[in-house]
Amino acid sequence: MSSTSHIAVIGAGIVGLSTALWLQRYGQQVTIIDKGLPGMGASFGNAGVFADYACLPFARRETLYQLPSMLMDKQGPLAIQGRYLTNLMPYGVEYLKACQPKRYEAGCSALAQLLQAAPAADSILLDSTGTESLITRSGSLAVFDTKASFEQARQGQMQDRQRYHVNLRYLTADEIQALEPSLAPFYAGGVLYPDTYHTIEPAKLCQQYADTFQKNGGTLLQANIETLMPIHGKTSIKLQAQGESWQFDKVVLATGIHSKILLKPLGVTVPLVSERGYHLELEAEENELTRPVSWLNKSVFLTPMANRIRVAGVAEFAHENAPENKQKSQNLRCFSQQMLGRPTKQIGHWIGSRPSTPDSLPIIGPAPNHPNIILAFGHGHLGLTLGSITGKLVAEQLTGQLETLDIAPFSLSRFQ
Ligand SMILES: Cc1cc2nc3c(=O)[nH]c(=O)nc-3n(C[C@H](O)[C@H](O)[C@H](O)COP(=O)(O)OP(=O)(O)OC[C@H]3O[C@@H](n4cnc5c(N)ncnc54)[C@H](O)[C@@H]3O)c2cc1C
Repeated sequence: MSSTSHIAVIGAGIVGLSTALWLQRYGQQVTIIDKGLPGMGASFGNAGVFADYACLPFARRETLYQLPSMLMDKQGPLAIQGRYLTNLMPYGVEYLKACQPKRYEAGCSALAQLLQAAPAADSILLDSTGTESLITRSGSLAVFDTKASFEQARQGQMQDRQRYHVNLRYLTADEIQALEPSLAPFYAGGVLYPDTYHTIEPAKLCQQYADTFQKNGGTLLQANIETLMPIHGKTSIKLQAQGESWQFDKVVLATGIHSKILLKPLGVTVPLVSERGYHLELEAEENELTRPVSWLNKSVFLTPMANRIRVAGVAEFAHENAPENKQKSQNLRCFSQQMLGRPTKQIGHWIGSRPSTPDSLPIIGPAPNHPNIILAFGHGHLGLTLGSITGKLVAEQLTGQLETLDIAPFSLSRFQ
């Protein structure tokens, strides 16, 4: 049976906001606490894609063997900043374990289950927050610049996706041209994911989620939480921030990349890393693109947003505030010009940290030895896609109304 308790959600990114809205739907009294404004962390700068097809974890044997050449490739998305190397130690060990074929298959299966449950959870939040107008439902495209890379994907990752029931259709170069006439014809073939949808304003989506949360009677506080202190035999949690403190029955930790630091004093270690991504924003010509297009070999996404195109990509393991890798920004500029076949005018630039786990699965569920602290972070490349379903699963956990799916594969205990 569910009962009402006062729950704090720390973090007003897409994951925390979605969780707070779901908790309200389950009748709970909720306070969100964020050190800044809602949606200004990683959730601000993503490519906006609800990536229904993304059921393949990055940790797998084939990728492991390619890592040295990927790191050497200046045109590629992957980079590690030297000063971040020591932070990669526990992550690296777990990454190696996650590359085992059995773990990889279990990861695909767990991710696929989450992805399949996600659209229904999204629809409920989009509808109840009046944000469907920020969503375009026109699928997404992945394109390949050589016949060889297209064939390799068809024989490999596309077949894997289909095994996990991803809806996709192969396209010839002519079919791509017919769907997206403004793309320069640099491609040899591609894949259409017809069920993908995207947001044309990721930050506004978060803002509107926050507005609805408050209209529903939720409290939004601005404070930089420094400690979580279990009290009264762990039946309550005291949160402390710069001389202020609050007491809650339960706490959801949805602080993205910062979750690791907040858990350390509780003796909870997490192999979470900062995987930085970059975006550039470009002036768009009228009706230039109608759906997100990724150039898969370069890991670059072009997403049509409101009055602009966002070019997103890069996987750089680095401290959140480390200096920019100018080569990576330059790559995004070059690839987007190649894709659009025209000189582009840049109107925005952003770098942010994805909260990434070694096996590409988020961490959802109670903290070890702290049943009233629920973890909801580590969504890596998929926080927008999995934000709402994560919120629903957390709300089910906290109210004892388990009905969607088993969250065991997402427990932190998989790394212990
Ligand atoms: C370039 C790029 C492209 C991406 N594209 C996509 C995409 O197309 N689709 C997709 O699904 N995902 C995408 N992602 C990933 C997605 O953006 C992230 O997974 C997601 O934003 C993570 O959300 P979050 O709520 O966990 O974290 P955040 O958005 O980072 O939110 C965490 C919040 O916690 C707050 N906080 C932190 N510490 C404290 C503290 N001590 N006290 C109080 N508040 C605190 C922060 O201020 C922040 O608001 C992309 C990421 C990048 C970088």
